[in-house]
Amino acid sequence: MDDNTKGPPRAVFECKCCGHCCHGVKTVSVSKKEQEGIAEFLGIGLEELKERFLVTEGGSTSMKVVDGHCIFYGKDGLCSIHPVKPFHCKRWPLHPSILADEAAWLAIKADCQGFREDATWDEAKRIVEEWMNES
Ligand code: SF4
Ligand code: SF4
Repeated sequence: MDDNTKGPPRAVFECKCCGHCCHGVKTVSVSKKEQEGIAEFLGIGLEELKERFLVTEGGSTSMKVVDGHCIFYGKDGLCSIHPVKPFHCKRWPLHPSILADEAAWLAIKADCQGFREDATWDEAKRIVEEWMNES
């Protein structure tokens, strides 16, 4: 039986680069500062970035969805703008909703294969808190 009180702590989460969280009918929002960073990374202007890669609806700007995935999801299964991807992408799946809501934790865990199978809600809350303190 596993004993979490002995030895180094086991990783609660390690991304498997499955690309699941880059798929769906919409993507996360992208702030103005993030848009500028992506444009600079791609070596294009802000207007060109907006026209080719972004969509604005209801006052919120997000990345376009093409063939069921974010437009920046690469053919190699990786994020093509990884160094400058939006904050909401960087923090996933360590979402703050995990802190107060066990149902949210269970839903997020079920949706992301990067969590250790036997990871507990307490462990997840601890790493979300650590992540929030660092950011
Ligand atoms: S769903 Fe989880 S394991 Fe898969 S790419 Fe996203 S964060 Fe990584
Ligand atoms: S920016 Fe990158 S990590 Fe974020 S949804 Fe698009 S492809 Fe995925």
